[in-house]
Amino acid sequence: MKDVEMCTCTFCSRPQKAVKKLIASPNGDAFICDDCIKICGDIIKEENNKVKKFKDLVLPSPKEIKAILDNYVIGQEQAKKVLSVAVFNHYKRINHNYHNKLNSNKKSKEEIQNILELEKSNVLMIGPTGSGKTLLVKTLAKILDVPFACADATTLTEAGYVGEDVENVLLKLIQNAEYDIEKAQRGIIYIDEIDKLARKSENRSLTRDVGGEGVQQALLKIIESTIASVPPQGGRKHPHQEMLQIDTTNILFICGGAFVGLDDIIHKRVSSSAIGFNANIKNSKEKAKVDYARDVQPDDLIKFGLIPEFVGRLPIITGLDDLDEKALQRILVEPKNSLIKQYKQMFKIDGFEIEFDDSAIEYVSKKAMDLKTGARGIRTIMETRMLELMFDLPDPNVYQKIVITRDFIENGSEPILIKKEEKAEAV
Ligand code: ADP
Repeated sequence: MKDVEMCTCTFCSRPQKAVKKLIASPNGDAFICDDCIKICGDIIKEENNKVKKFKDLVLPSPKEIKAILDNYVIGQEQAKKVLSVAVFNHYKRINHNYHNKLNSNKKSKEEIQNILELEKSNVLMIGPTGSGKTLLVKTLAKILDVPFACADATTLTEAGYVGEDVENVLLKLIQNAEYDIEKAQRGIIYIDEIDKLARKSENRSLTRDVGGEGVQQALLKIIESTIASVPPQGGRKHPHQEMLQIDTTNILFICGGAFVGLDDIIHKRVSSSAIGFNANIKNSKEKAKVDYARDVQPDDLIKFGLIPEFVGRLPIITGLDDLDEKALQRILVEPKNSLIKQYKQMFKIDGFEIEFDDSAIEYVSKKAMDLKTGARGIRTIMETRMLELMFDLPDPNVYQKIVITRDFIENGSEPILIKKEEKAEAV
């Protein structure tokens, strides 16, 4: 045993005199000081927290995820199913890879080499505007309690051009994770209008002038997996700025777009192929409906104008249907936070009960169909009229119930107002 007076901490090399306490190992060969014990304790605590954070990510089954989506999203059965499984697999994969990495120090070199890293599968959603693409992704992020960010591909540009750098999408995610990078690294990013980045040469109907392909290239980098440097305040990077580093490996990217004309590309391919693989598309005289999840091939998307590497990074494809009048009626009433439920809540605060009669609901959905903006039209139609009513509220001391009729929405007539006494009399 060495003379303790002469000993130094094996970790920080400080002598006995410079520390509060120096503890010897049982065989007396090594020493550790109180400061180094504290640092070691902190390291272990942090590791344990990391594991705990991961275990805390409660992962419902795909069926459970779909059941919750059903409360918010009307129709779109296939998309809900595909996304539930995709998201479930994504987070299962993160857990698997993480725990493998965590246990790798207990494994031999050969075992480490044989570890199967599960690769991420990003998703492409093809569906018309206002059919629920953004709503689906937003709801999924809420169900899983992971941060979410959304960007419009048409506002993104390659670095150096006027517009938003693609890294700004990552900044939005970091901000939505309240600057918790660890959390942001497991978030979901939705990029809308991805079809507008199509190369013009392949698709003449598009009017985009600059850089669609360049933006695809720039997006590719973050979608694949990279350590991106993000300026914390957004905007352009400059050399002396401190950057936030974010690893995009575990971020799930979901891209969406209407892909107008893609069905024609698929029809053309199928009808020109000698052996029709999708008989239902090939044989019908009319333009049969395309089932995107089943019928799209990577080549179709490349023909449409996406670059092959980009298509390769979006292996899961699903389609959303056009919403018909019946679906729009259901959207008005059924979702947990439907527009009508929201109005009911808002008027309740002012002391009114509000009722929408069936003719009003039918009229709004019919009118929304004419606007051709999917369920978005519903809000447009309702807001204008409801705003008038909110601006000029009836007297809550006199009236207690407002009935919204078709006439109120269509012709601007007065709504039916029911007085407090009338209700009492009716009872
Ligand atoms: P997209 O991203 O497909 O253009 P959104 O998801 O942004 O459409 O839809 C716009 C709004 O319309 C949503 O906020 C939601 O209120 C409503 N909506 C659209 N589709 C649905 C749906 N299938 N079920 C319920 N609400 C829907």
